[in-house]
Amino acid sequence: MTRGVPVFVLALVLLAPPSLPAQSGRAGAPVVDPPITCGACDEWNAPRQPFKVFGNTYFVGSAGLSSVLITSDQGHILIDVALPQSVPVIDTNIRALGFKTSDIRLILTSHGHFDHLGGVRAMQRFTGATVGASTRTAEALALGHATPDDPQYGGPSADTFPAVTTGVRVVQDGETVKAGPLAITARYTPGHTPGATTWTWQSCEEARCLSIAYVDSLTAVSNPGFRFTGDGTRPGIVDSFRRSLDTVRALPCDVLLTTHPSASGMDEKLKRGTAEPLVDAGACRALAESSLAALEARIGQEQPR
Ligand SMILES: [Zn+2]
Repeated sequence: MTRGVPVFVLALVLLAPPSLPAQSGRAGAPVVDPPITCGACDEWNAPRQPFKVFGNTYFVGSAGLSSVLITSDQGHILIDVALPQSVPVIDTNIRALGFKTSDIRLILTSHGHFDHLGGVRAMQRFTGATVGASTRTAEALALGHATPDDPQYGGPSADTFPAVTTGVRVVQDGETVKAGPLAITARYTPGHTPGATTWTWQSCEEARCLSIAYVDSLTAVSNPGFRFTGDGTRPGIVDSFRRSLDTVRALPCDVLLTTHPSASGMDEKLKRGTAEPLVDAGACRALAESSLAALEARIGQEQPR
């Protein structure tokens, strides 16, 4: 037997399109910025099956980083664009659901860390969408890294990400932003970062409407040396952090989604296999309570000065 290349394989090779540069991918797909590397990045960015949350709300993120699509026949809203290398994952998920990524009209943001805003610039470039951000998250977007008063500034979460300097619309606390028939309300929930923003909206199936809350990170984590209780160089942020938790506790919240799916136990809930595993009117309250306990524990560890 000869060991030559079988004819059909050769035919496939000859018919195959010329390979495209790694960063452009499929024709008509978003051009991706250089990837960010971090300890958890590969695990976070692993592909996951997109799914309908309720009504016109869909989860289109990766294994460990949330991106949420809210659809309408006049264009879509996308919340958070994770890492630069998450953009093809999100694009694939949106197309798998039968929607067009290019129909995104508004990209909304949670907080100014590389793992939630890393893909915003590429997605904005591809869609031409307006980017909506709180005052302080807009600052981080313009810098391309966490702001200097961020508890994690100077650490891994201060790593740079592609800055977004144009097309950003600042959304005020309590303001409702509209895109066609879609309306979504910003609630500032500072603590994890100064700009942390939670978004709430309603999605309907027939006459039944549910309140969806996309709650920003509420973890009191920092670089060594940062004190939530303040020090000689900066005031404490404990009071505003506690107010954020009060805000989350009182949100309209039939379905809780979080910036990292793990923060709301999304996968555990999905595995239950019940009819509506993510519908839980007590979920925001429970997250506020557990986050408050963690914050108080952290305060207890900070020695008075
Ligand atoms: Zn963060």
